Order: sequence, then C-alpha cells, then structure tokens
Amino acid sequence: MRKLDEGGEGAKDRKGKKRKTSDAGVKKQRAPSEGGVHEESAAALKKKDKKDKKRSSQSAPDRSDTRVSRSPERKHESPKRQDKGPSQAAVTKDSNPAAGSTPSKSKTSRTAPGLTDLQAKMKQSLDGARFRLINETLYRSDSGHAYQMMREDPEVFEEYHKGFRHQVQSWPANPVSHYIQSLSAYPPKTVIADLGCGDAALAKALVPKGLTVLSFDLVSDGKYVVEADICAKVPLPGSEAAEGEGQVVDVVVCALSLMGTNWPGCIREAWRVLKADGELKIAEVASRFTDVEAFVSLISSVGFKLKSKDDRNTHFTLFEFRKIARKSAMSEKEWSKIMSRGSLLKPCEYKRR
Ligand code: SAH
Repeated sequence: MRKLDEGGEGAKDRKGKKRKTSDAGVKKQRAPSEGGVHEESAAALKKKDKKDKKRSSQSAPDRSDTRVSRSPERKHESPKRQDKGPSQAAVTKDSNPAAGSTPSKSKTSRTAPGLTDLQAKMKQSLDGARFRLINETLYRSDSGHAYQMMREDPEVFEEYHKGFRHQVQSWPANPVSHYIQSLSAYPPKTVIADLGCGDAALAKALVPKGLTVLSFDLVSDGKYVVEADICAKVPLPGSEAAEGEGQVVDVVVCALSLMGTNWPGCIREAWRVLKADGELKIAEVASRFTDVEAFVSLISSVGFKLKSKDDRNTHFTLFEFRKIARKSAMSEKEWSKIMSRGSLLKPCEYKRR
C-alpha cells in the first residue's frame, strides 16, 4: 500500500516533474475521508484477491472457468429491472450504469464448477465488493494511483473489465456503439484516438473499415491497446504551443473514461494531440454532472468550442467539441486552476447492498 501511494505521489508528470501540482490539487478536492477510502480500497482488494485465489485453488482448479462465472452484483440485482423497457432500464441518479444494469438472477451457483452453493454465493459477494472497490478507486483517486495499481496487479484491470463488459451487455444504449456508427461514415483516412478505450471496441470495429484508431488505456492487451495514463501523457506527437505542431489526430474519443480526479489532464492531452479544428467527442454518465454548463466551460477554457450536446439518453450525455486556437499560451497557474476542477464530475459509485 505504501508502495502504491509512493507511486502515485512520485509519478512523473508531463514535464517529468513529480506530480506535485496535480496531486496537491487532488488532495485539496478530496473530502478528508477519501484518502482513507482509497487506502482501504487497495488494501481490501489485495486481501480479497488473496482469499479469492486461495478459494479458487482449493475448490476450482480451472481458474478461468471460475472467473467466467464471476458476476459482480448479480446476486443483488433487482429482478424488476429486467422488465424495464430500453428507456427505463437505467441507471438511477446516483448509480453507475455499470452498476445499475440487470443481469438475470444468477445461475452462477449452479454453474460454478467445484463450488457449493454457499461457496458460490460468498464468491459472488466478494467479487461484487471487489468490483465496487476497483470502481471506487478509479473514480476517487488521481490517475497516477490507478496507473500504479494496475502496474502492481494487472489482474485488477481484468477484473474491472470483466464486470464492465458484463454490465454493458444489458445497457439499453452504449456510447461506443453510437461512436462506431457515426465514425463509420468518416473518410477512411481519419485518425481517431480512443482515450480510455477499454477493450478497444472502436478499433476492432473501425480498423477493418480502413480508419486508423489509436487506442489507449491503463493496461495494454498487446494488440490494439497502448498502455498510457491518458490524464498525464498520451504517447502521441503534438505541441502544446499556441499554434500547435506535429499533431496527427482528427478525432479524440473519451467514452466514459474521464475517471480519475485529475481528468482535466486528459482534456489537455486531447487538445495537444488534435490537429487544428480536430473533434473531441465525450460521453459521460448523466448522473456524474454537477453542473453541465460549468463542465462545458471548463473544456472550452482548454481550447475547445462546443458543437453539440445530446442529453436525450437518460444514461449518457454526449458532447462534441472542436479544437480552437488558444489566444495565448496558458500559464501554469491557469493549468492548476483547470486541474483543480475535477470535482465537476462526481464519481459513479456502486450501491452498497
Ligand atoms: N471507452 C470504453 C471503456 C469505458 S470504461 C467503452 O466505452 O467501452 C473506462 C475506461 O477508461 C477503462 O478501461 C479505464 O481503464 C479507462 N481509464 C480511466 N482512466 C484512465 C487513465 N487515466 N488512463 C487510461 N485509461 C483510463
């Protein structure tokens, strides 16, 4: 845990300096208890992981089978949600869409190989708690902490995405599907950077159509995804000078990926890597917004102009921005101010059951 914290504090920023500025900013934003939440989260994750591994090796030699049967939140989901139509099958105001969807009441205990019903239930419960903790850590801490956590245990990433994928299947709408559809109509030479790409669904759909999709996330899959902390440094060319130079990206997509408390750093990086007039597409969970206008104003202050906002979907709000030239180079003081506004987006939290 100490190592984890040191990693977060000591991680280098875009200029190779220690992350003092952003971390300090983050600490200021945190409620006193939040640091504790993070520490507990990571410690609890490790503890649960140990228990989990022990249980798996005792009862279910085939770990992959067991893991397939993991189903965060299943046991607790309200069966009612099953009956909701697409527009209702939703995320309540205070919940994460990933948490709010409704897998069917689990047959897991029947299908988990080698586990008794009681063991399977305990496992589900642990997995659910683990999923919530990972989620909480991602939303409540600086991305440097998340990055470090994934370095220490890449399985955490896999666990998170297993849960995420599972939930996404039951969403009535998925921003990525929307982007696949709209970007399919772009000219084949279009270069897209998918920041916080998850399992690179955009690239998998659009690369075969001739578009170039550069996918970044905290952990690489060795194929589509390049490892990066998108709030600190996207490994793509581009100058931050007022005029901009070297950029190759036409479109940046941030689909549900503004997770760390320092997410404004990702917007800064989006501006840096985008060509002049490039597009920034952001999809975020509607319930995360404390003040949509202030959010738009913050993004605009980085050097973007709002083209459209689509909040017809009850779950997600979609924003389209266009990169514009900055009047003058931004000072470190201005950046600090922007970075300190991460709390404009609330974390998506799983309900404790
Ligand atoms: N865009 C994908 C995945 C959404 S889940 C989709 O819509 O399907 C959010 C993703 O953002 C996760 O994969 C998470 O790992 C990633 N993410 C969050 N913060 C990140 C950061 N600082 N650097 C890189 N990836 C990040």
